Amino acid sequence: MENQKQKQPIYEGKAKQVYTTENPNELLVYYKDDATAFNGVKRGTIMNKGVLNNKISSFFFELLTRKGIPNHFVHRVSDREMRVKALKIIQVEVVVRNIAAGSLAKRIGWEEGRKLPTTVLEMYYKNDELNDPLINDYHIKAMGLASEDEITRMSEYALKINQILTGYLKEKNLELIDFKLEFGLHNGQVLLGDEISPDTCRFWDSVTKEKLDKDRFRRDLGNVEEAYYEILYRLTGEKA
Ligand code: UDP
Repeated sequence: MENQKQKQPIYEGKAKQVYTTENPNELLVYYKDDATAFNGVKRGTIMNKGVLNNKISSFFFELLTRKGIPNHFVHRVSDREMRVKALKIIQVEVVVRNIAAGSLAKRIGWEEGRKLPTTVLEMYYKNDELNDPLINDYHIKAMGLASEDEITRMSEYALKINQILTGYLKEKNLELIDFKLEFGLHNGQVLLGDEISPDTCRFWDSVTKEKLDKDRFRRDLGNVEEAYYEILYRLTGEKA
């Protein structure tokens, strides 16, 4: 653990803990092995998930930094810890979809795996009590969750991130089905925050269409840890 003295817990979520650091502009994120699905109704542990998601997220943030996407990542501190810029989180989850799956497949009655002819961008209100309802730009503005400018920024970044990740993952024989992003404000600037991992993305093997993400946990498909390891391996060549 980095610098115990200045490290005070300020927030604990389903998969991560957040601590203060000696620098008021920076926080320390600790990745846990706890797994939840269906808004906390299903709970469990995925062995070493914290380590794997920390490494996978760090890898993606470094890639996005190189591609010019402003984000909260400072550096990876240890197996389970990442140092980030402190954000005031915008209470909106931004979902990008390339292929129908999960809640969209259900909502519009398309079979899972059917390609969406155009990319779909969705916004959800980040509120567990309400079950994260689907909302649009008008709701976001009316509710004061974000300004028009901030919505534009989040949407542009989300679509750019989709292009970068889709292209990158294709080379690794992975299809990016959909993913969720969170953004926050740091000195008035919109930055990408949270994590990018098999917890927040759907990854399918391009050839076999095998699911290599949290759907293995959500749907009791088995080999959950193995799928997370496989993603880290394909991205970095790292075995553990
Ligand atoms: N997602 C997420 N957190 C949420 C809801 C969704 O990370 O609270 C991710 C999920 O992993 C998937 C994408 O967002 O990659 C779209 O999820 P969907 O709306 O299909 O919901 P789900 O079927 O996962 O409930």
